[in-house]
Amino acid sequence: MSADTSLMPIPGPIDPVPVARPLTPRADGRVELIGLSKDQIRTALETAGLEPKQAKLRAKQLWHWIYNRGVGDITQMTDIAKAQQPWIASRFVITRPAVIEAQVSTDGTRKWLLRTHDGHDYEMVFIPDADRGTLCVSSQVGCTLNCRFCHTGTMRLVRNLEPSEIVGQVMLARDALGEWPSAPDGRMLTNIVMMGMGEPLYNFDNVRDALKIVMDGDGLGLSKRRITLSTSGVVPMMARAGAEIGVNLAVSLHAVTKAVRDEIVPINRKYGIDELLQACADYPGANNARRITFEYVMLRDKNDSDADARELVRLIRHYDLPAKVNLIPFNPWPGAAYECSTPERIRSFSSIVFAAGISAPVRTPRGRDIDAACGQLKTSAEKRSRADLDRLADEKQAELEAQP
Ligand code: SAH
Ligand code: SF4
Repeated sequence: MSADTSLMPIPGPIDPVPVARPLTPRADGRVELIGLSKDQIRTALETAGLEPKQAKLRAKQLWHWIYNRGVGDITQMTDIAKAQQPWIASRFVITRPAVIEAQVSTDGTRKWLLRTHDGHDYEMVFIPDADRGTLCVSSQVGCTLNCRFCHTGTMRLVRNLEPSEIVGQVMLARDALGEWPSAPDGRMLTNIVMMGMGEPLYNFDNVRDALKIVMDGDGLGLSKRRITLSTSGVVPMMARAGAEIGVNLAVSLHAVTKAVRDEIVPINRKYGIDELLQACADYPGANNARRITFEYVMLRDKNDSDADARELVRLIRHYDLPAKVNLIPFNPWPGAAYECSTPERIRSFSSIVFAAGISAPVRTPRGRDIDAACGQLKTSAEKRSRADLDRLADEKQAELEAQP
């Protein structure tokens, strides 16, 4: 695939964040089939020399083997002529992200450290529950935003993940859970959240193309109602996310005043709370049956007062939002500048929101012991000293402030 497709689409004329770097093309020139739509595969086969009718048939067969059966070896695709298999294999590949490390938490949460073919590390998490299994998928290596409470935001190296690398995470999880051929009944992997590393709306095209494959009935076949995309508030891309992807929306709100949100979620300096909530009100498909989730990390003495809770209720009512609030106890990481709110504070906050008729569960942290909980994802290659982190944070801050 061309390197251009991995460049970060920049919404708006001026963007306050550094741009993700492009990927390095595969050294052997072969094309990855995972992440391509059926039409793109057909075109690629035609360009390589197949007759149009043949190309159409082969594209359909390849898709079936890849997404329905989980097969990565072309010689196992029994309805593709033996004589043609080497021809395909010399031009195309079907690969999974490389697994560098797999860990299991005492609570059953699993985390995988993955590596792209050009050597960048990223993570994926699986969270089993009694009635569901949720895969937390990354959209970028690192993140160009630097929410002050998020470990991923301190990663320096950022590259957008390709559709193949996003779909590849789901395929790997299916491999690990032994869920091929894909049958919707009794599956462990039932839900997907775009809540791993990165800001999915800063990698819009790739995330959209990947999720289309995940949602396609002939693809991985997960319903859009079981997929949630979380954004820190990239307002200009939210309408397109609703129209072109149509999955559930989660918004990392985390604060109700400009001063606090500017500090902890710096993208707020560009797209403020009112703009963000208006974009939520306009989000297509949001209704009482499909609510927007507001994520709210509980930071001690920062955003956790009763007054904050009441303001949150006021804002949700003011914009008439079909909303639920997820209260996330802050997950600590080495060198973080914040502490988690006390359990009493969290209870008090939750009950104020709840009393207003808005569901406000406190999310139990999962996989903390293996650094798999929200905001803890950061690959070991990137784990640095406190002095380094401070310097990087200062640099990012200076970059932000240098923008008009
Ligand atoms: N970039 C997207 C997707 C990440 S989702 C976004 O920001 O929405 C992960 C969720 O965990 C977000 O709501 C994020 O704000 C939150 N989070 C980040 N760091 C955290 C931490 N240390 N403790 C608890 N939640 C955190
Ligand atoms: Fe990026 Fe989300 Fe972390 Fe903010 S919370 S730094 S947007 S991954």
